[in-house]
Amino acid sequence: MTVVVGSNSLSHAVAADRAYVWHHLSQHKPYETIDPRVFVEGKGLKLWDANGNQYLDAVSGGVWTVNVGYGRESIANAIRDQLVKLNYYAGAAGNVPGALFAEKLIEKMPGLTRVYYSNSGSEANEKVYKMVRQIAHRHRGGKKWKILYRERDYHGTTIGTLATSGQPQRAEQYGPFPDGFVSVPHCLEYRKQWDVENYGERAADAIEEAILREGSDTVGCLVLEPVTAGGGVIVPPKGYWERVQEICRKYDILLHIDEVVCGLGRTGTWFGYQHYDIKPDFVTMAKGVASGYAAISCTVTTERVFEMFKDNPDDSMSYFRDISTFGGCTSGPVAALENMRIIEDEGLLENTIKMGDRCLSNLQALMEKHRAIGDVRGKGLFLGAELVADRTTKEPLDEKRVQAVVADCLSNGVIIGATNRSLPGLNNTLCLSPALIATPDDVDRITDAIDKALTRVVG
Ligand code: PMP
Repeated sequence: MTVVVGSNSLSHAVAADRAYVWHHLSQHKPYETIDPRVFVEGKGLKLWDANGNQYLDAVSGGVWTVNVGYGRESIANAIRDQLVKLNYYAGAAGNVPGALFAEKLIEKMPGLTRVYYSNSGSEANEKVYKMVRQIAHRHRGGKKWKILYRERDYHGTTIGTLATSGQPQRAEQYGPFPDGFVSVPHCLEYRKQWDVENYGERAADAIEEAILREGSDTVGCLVLEPVTAGGGVIVPPKGYWERVQEICRKYDILLHIDEVVCGLGRTGTWFGYQHYDIKPDFVTMAKGVASGYAAISCTVTTERVFEMFKDNPDDSMSYFRDISTFGGCTSGPVAALENMRIIEDEGLLENTIKMGDRCLSNLQALMEKHRAIGDVRGKGLFLGAELVADRTTKEPLDEKRVQAVVADCLSNGVIIGATNRSLPGLNNTLCLSPALIATPDDVDRITDAIDKALTRVVG
């Protein structure tokens, strides 16, 4: 650890941050009197800030990104070697790491054959929306242009992807939005919308109802997170995915799985959808693809979709009229190649399942002790604990106390997250997503911090 407390350069950086940086997701008024937290160094799951404080990061860089942990020299070296050889070329030409990573990725995704590069999750999702619209124009007689999305899911921060935000508070102040994006109900059984036995199938049937309401000839695509992330860590109930697949086939609707969070091992399989028997037409991914060592996102699709974009070579409108300038950076795919090698060689999928099970059972044990935990859920190292004021009525614990639990963990050196300011009245789920290299000690330390925080905050 090389951070020198109070060193000139670090205190200067903190002052510069306070003076000039506009932080994501932040109300800045408090920074008029206190310093923002500025991180300096990371190793494994550990982080150090500019004041020399050490933390255990249980959220992989804040938003489920650093899957292989901090301080990976082999990724840094691979990027360096590539950058001095060729850093960039965009547009119609390819590059070597882009080709090699696409090949490796496709090996992990049977049924999918083509990778389109860009550099954020939002952008990868926008590409799908544009592809669906172009298919509607060229191949569906102007029909099947609508895109269905689900309550509580999130697909990005641009105006287009916010039009598919199932988290209303994120979108509220940024309308009007483009037409043709239609919401379907969420599938969280803990907060039931239907009193039935086969909840998964019933929740999927609600998608069919929306399709029939809109007119099946108008609906081209359905976008879903395999496990909903910021909307409350929602693992769809039994029977859900199978029924969703059936419905998409029945009405010839393209199925788009947003793996921006779940992709590259987070749930213990390469992709979240691979826990189920489904065949997506589009898969998008970003965060864990290069674990935050470089910016990269991918839109992956089938040969059937790809073929539709080369139907008439003489027609200037018959290819995908899209580019992503930084989709031509070689740092992304070269980092992604090394990131994937690490996940494979270090057995991180297996570790994710083991540590995920341990974390889930620790949380279940905490549920026995703390009545404030209403529900725990998750898959792999992607877990949530929903906090309630009353277990019987399931009244959510108020946001202030949920944030106090997060703050207490932080003061105890453990960074956890919460569904924060996205769902009216339901910002009450603690979120855990440590790096896939987490050890039993790490997992126990995280759940121990939550235990202590709940005792202090709720009693
Ligand atoms: N999809 C999901 C499921 C996400 O969680 C996010 C980001 N939190 C995005 C898309 C958007 O990704 P980005 O911030 O890289 O644009």
